[in-house]
Amino acid sequence: MRLPRFDYLKPDTLEGALDLMATYRDGAKILAGGTDLLVRMKKGLLSPKTLISLKALDELVYIKEGTMDGGDCIIIGAKTPIADVIDSDLVQQKASALSTACEKIGAITLQHFVGTIGGNILQENRCIHYNQSDFHRSGRGACHKDGGKICYARDDSDRCHSTCQSDGATALMALNAAITLARKGGEQRVDLVDLYTNDGIMPFAIESNELLTEIILPVRKGHSAYKRLAYRSALDYPIVCAGVLLIPSNTDEIAEARIVVGAMGRSPLYMASASNSLKGKKFDDRDAFKKAAATAMDNAAAFAVHNLGSTLEYRCSMAAEMVFQALNEAARAYQAA
Ligand SMILES: Cc1cc2nc3c(=O)[nH]c(=O)nc-3n(C[C@H](O)[C@H](O)[C@H](O)COP(=O)(O)OP(=O)(O)OC[C@H]3O[C@@H](n4cnc5c(N)ncnc54)[C@H](O)[C@@H]3O)c2cc1C
Ligand code: SF4
Repeated sequence: MRLPRFDYLKPDTLEGALDLMATYRDGAKILAGGTDLLVRMKKGLLSPKTLISLKALDELVYIKEGTMDGGDCIIIGAKTPIADVIDSDLVQQKASALSTACEKIGAITLQHFVGTIGGNILQENRCIHYNQSDFHRSGRGACHKDGGKICYARDDSDRCHSTCQSDGATALMALNAAITLARKGGEQRVDLVDLYTNDGIMPFAIESNELLTEIILPVRKGHSAYKRLAYRSALDYPIVCAGVLLIPSNTDEIAEARIVVGAMGRSPLYMASASNSLKGKKFDDRDAFKKAAATAMDNAAAFAVHNLGSTLEYRCSMAAEMVFQALNEAARAYQAA
């Protein structure tokens, strides 16, 4: 598989990158580490005329403390390598779900040399029927994402249900992260939950002239955890995963919970009713954790389709297990603190 031809632009400054994005718009794609983009280009899934590389933009590599809406936060530059996020004491201590999720991404080489946290969030959705070579896909008619009129993952569906398999985005949504999108002449802050369109063909609500520049994590007095299931511990994407955050009250109860299930839908799925069911519960209430996990599984099941390499029944039951394990781990961390 060879890369198609493209023009390669390497701006030296953020301002230069935003200028180029404003000029080229839909004709160009951003190249960060390329571990998602270049694989898709080699498979013939897209063929941009121009790549705008972030290679020289070291100004987007940082992890620092800051404030957001009057509270403390961690701010991570979008081009920060996955390995830096894993190694950061700040992230390990205050956002351990993200640390754990990043440890699971791909393989050590990918984490150290190329993959970035911004690229992880904005990696394309995946589907076993679509993320294949030209040769494989030419064996039958094109699906919606390929410009056709059929979905092989859900019978009679008039839309694409490709799945978001980002480990990082699942953990970040559990941590209630926001992102900054910059464009020539301005920028906007967007809550991560609002980044998604719910359309598997164009999964992100981001304009072609907008660059993800940073990720903002509110720092709360609480504990987070991340669990994922994959066939192999390295190189394989998650079959299903879960990120959770538990915030204690002054009376040692759960004041607020956030449960997010990943790799089951077109975006990471924030489970509102499962999360709310834990308000006021004790940190050792395993029955409450079990019920919340079952509710999360039921709600996630409505989004999942047959487009990863394992059965829906298995993925759904393991979604409950991942949520349950993550809740227990976050609760144990609270009890040990
Ligand atoms: C073998 C293999 C295994 C993998 N396993 C996993 C896994 O287990 N879990 C997982 O989550 N991922 C996995 N990945 C996917 C991918 O490697 C990671 O998500 C990685 O973090 C992507 O980062 P990148 O910098 O290489 O992104 P790129 O490929 O450079 O970019 C990804 C997409 O985001 C866009 N983009 C990147 N940065 C920006 C920005 N700042 N602003 C706007 N758009 C941007 C690009 O245009 C592109 O569309 C795997 C990939 C491979 C090849
Ligand atoms: S979910 Fe359906 S339309 Fe989307 S990529 Fe898969 S087969 Fe194609």
